[in-house]
Amino acid sequence: MQYRCPKCQSVKIMPVSQGANSPRPNVPKSLVLLVPAIFILLVLVLISVGMWIFGHGAGQTLQIATVAVFGVCVIAGVLFWRDLPDFKISMQAFMQAQKHWKCRDCNHEWQN
Ligand SMILES: [Zn+2]
Repeated sequence: MQYRCPKCQSVKIMPVSQGANSPRPNVPKSLVLLVPAIFILLVLVLISVGMWIFGHGAGQTLQIATVAVFGVCVIAGVLFWRDLPDFKISMQAFMQAQKHWKCRDCNHEWQN
């Protein structure tokens, strides 16, 4: 099993869809929640920092929203941490079942 491009040794490889019967990793719901929550948190923190820099300070609503989203991130993080062993197994099964790969650096395609 190769996780590198056989041509340029890049690790930036991606699976090529094998059609309808293509295996898919079982992505836990906690990860689906965690990724956008972290993104929203980053945006809120950037807005807060921006408002602070420009002298007005972050508004109360913004502070509450930031704390709330931070709470969601923590909860989703804990849930994802618990889902992680299953997710790893699912990803490994997916990587092994996936036969057709493409390199994002040199566009080389190969079959395992
Ligand atoms: Zn390559």
